[in-house]
Amino acid sequence: MSRIFSGIQPSGELHIGNYLGAVKNWVELQDKEECLICVVDLHAITGKYDVASLAARTREMAIGIIAAGVDPKKVILFVQSHVPEHSELQWLLTTLTPVGELERMTQYKDKSAKYESIPAGILVYPILMAADILLYRADTVPVGEDQVQHLELAREIVRKWNAEFAPDAPVFPEPKPVLSTARRIMGLDGQAKMSKSLGNTIGLLDPPEAVWEKLRPAVTDPARKTKKDPGNPEICNIFTLHKHFSPPATVAEVDQKCRTAGWGCLDCKKVLADNMSAALAPMRARAAELKAAPEQVDAALALGATKARTEARKTLALVRERMGFLPTQGS
Ligand code: SF4
Repeated sequence: MSRIFSGIQPSGELHIGNYLGAVKNWVELQDKEECLICVVDLHAITGKYDVASLAARTREMAIGIIAAGVDPKKVILFVQSHVPEHSELQWLLTTLTPVGELERMTQYKDKSAKYESIPAGILVYPILMAADILLYRADTVPVGEDQVQHLELAREIVRKWNAEFAPDAPVFPEPKPVLSTARRIMGLDGQAKMSKSLGNTIGLLDPPEAVWEKLRPAVTDPARKTKKDPGNPEICNIFTLHKHFSPPATVAEVDQKCRTAGWGCLDCKKVLADNMSAALAPMRARAAELKAAPEQVDAALALGATKARTEARKTLALVRERMGFLPTQGS
């Protein structure tokens, strides 16, 4: 059985890109593997952030995850800041991570370009990600393509730490990346990956009217200027979404009607909106129940943090010992 660590930022709204790219996979894995799923609020404060809404966004994200089918009884679902060992291990790993390695991270280059005075958190962010994984000695990490480079750095940190402090009996396994099968869900603008900050998403908990309102103007194959122009579904994001939400017979019908100009894009989108809304309806209902009982969500997260902390403390005790620290009394 693999031990899997996954993190998700507390952006508040879980959108269908998150669902298809990550959460759906967690639901499938929870019966087969040992899964730790973490709402990574410490990562969310790396740049400027809205303090007033952080706690609410964190709970909202947990609600979305549970509503989407993740069962806190089957996985360890918790909030990163509830397990302070993440920050401690990050510091211990920071001491042996070369600055040059951090500076060559593509995300660092992109994000730091927006700052006049670069917060150090943006530079050391990948070390916190490494600590998240190593704290639980997870061997598998589902990632999007944009995180592969960070995971490779985590693997380098593992090699370095093991060689330095545990050459005979490695403490940390090298975590291997598993790319999601729905690697890259494009946004409704057809330009970039679906992302809340780009405003090109459909919320997992959006009601049918909102789903339709967002789908109606979504970008399609530009060749379909009028209803009479045939198109190529393979380059259309709406077709990709049909593959995730519509039955195979409908997907085949979309393919055929698109190529032969058998219908217009609005017809095609309407079918998708109906299928998507039907698939999301049970999640919306479950989320409404959870929103009405936030204490249940908080209790599930507290239990998750207790379980996560038990594992985290075991790892840190070993790490402290190997790094030569004086043990605290009773430890
Ligand atoms: S008919 Fe459907 S698949 Fe074809 S371009 Fe229009 S929206 Fe896309």
